Amino acid sequence: VNRSDVHYFGAGPAPLPTPVLEKAAQVLLNYKDKGIGLAEISHRSPEANEILAEAKQALTTLLDIPDDYEILFLQSGGSGEFSATVYNLVSIWVEKKRAKIASEVGDDEAEVLKRLRKVVDEELKLDYLVTGSWSLKASQEAARLVGAKHVNVAVDARKANGGKFGVIPSEDQWNLTPHTSGGGPALAYFCDNETVDGVEFPSFPHSLEGDDAPLVCGDMSSNFISRKVDVRKFAIIFGGAQKNIGNTGIAIVIIRKSLLPPHSQPASPDLLRALNLPVGPIVLDYPTIAKNNSLYNTLPILDVWVAGQVMTGLVDKYGAQRIGGQEDISNTKARNIYHVLDKYADVYQVVPAKDVRSRMNICFRVHGGDADKEKAFLAGAEKKGLLGLKGHRSVGGIRASNYNAVSLEGAQKLVAYLEEYATS
Ligand code: PLP
Repeated sequence: VNRSDVHYFGAGPAPLPTPVLEKAAQVLLNYKDKGIGLAEISHRSPEANEILAEAKQALTTLLDIPDDYEILFLQSGGSGEFSATVYNLVSIWVEKKRAKIASEVGDDEAEVLKRLRKVVDEELKLDYLVTGSWSLKASQEAARLVGAKHVNVAVDARKANGGKFGVIPSEDQWNLTPHTSGGGPALAYFCDNETVDGVEFPSFPHSLEGDDAPLVCGDMSSNFISRKVDVRKFAIIFGGAQKNIGNTGIAIVIIRKSLLPPHSQPASPDLLRALNLPVGPIVLDYPTIAKNNSLYNTLPILDVWVAGQVMTGLVDKYGAQRIGGQEDISNTKARNIYHVLDKYADVYQVVPAKDVRSRMNICFRVHGGDADKEKAFLAGAEKKGLLGLKGHRSVGGIRASNYNAVSLEGAQKLVAYLEEYATS
């Protein structure tokens, strides 16, 4: 089968631009005529540093990332960031509280610890907006690390939708921990695009913005660089690279510099242990990764190179439009696919509610989820070279992932097949 005969709609890993892969095959064997390939050279070489700098620059340009943000590359995967956000932001929260108490009671360490224990016990909260399978997993990881009593599920979208994901309840129904400049949760977390359930936030939640906003963590694993983002509204944005940006192997973190030393200090490991709070692995410690320009330990430079090539390609392609150019294409592809699904509503049923439909993961049922008909639908698609359309195993159905490397032509072929299947 020829690569050019196939359109792949898998949810991740996902397609990559063919020219990038062709070039990757070359640099894997011989990078810049050095006689060795990119997977072989040192992550501390000048070449590696250049690759890192270019990838950072391209992302900065695409998303218009302000100077007071840092970009980190880690091997954590998206899931590793479920843990990293908790370790790092709880640590900062604790240290702030300790410093405040110490300023009130002075050098009496026993007294500081006693008061701090009480504050942690009564006030430590991590807010999660649970709108799909991935934010659910993130909230469960937080509960595993710090204890369920400290995790505030501010909204569980299933409760508003008969036990299933597919809606985002209105913000007046969210039960956020009150946030004022002196207090509030250690973090407020949401997943911008839920890959399994096909639910995407239409815009940034109003209740998480403003002067007293909490530290917002956004998981953008499956809609990274697919639309404009106001980075300033986030303390941390993270995502695995393997859907919209590159291949598997790295996660990207965009973090507000005020959360890194010298502006913020983490709590000491001894203090965290004394408070029965977790001490994170050093490879997930943002201050350590930042201090070492993401090279604290061996970074898969080939993966960073691929991500850099994809992002530089978008910068070159869209020029001054930056990510807006890609956003227009993503929107057009998604609009066309949803249009035909809605046109044949007797055959196709889109899973999520209309106002929160994902532009990236288009989830629907065929004939109400009839198993044989969905099988036949998938088999017919495969015959036409339309691959990777099976829904996630936990929810079934069909899922067309519409990431950046899915071409307009690929989306049009899917639209034509949807039309043909519905009318045959
Ligand atoms: N977050 C989202 C939204 C995802 O879609 C995924 C994976 O599909 C993850 C997190 C987990 O990423 P990883 O498999 O890199 O740990």
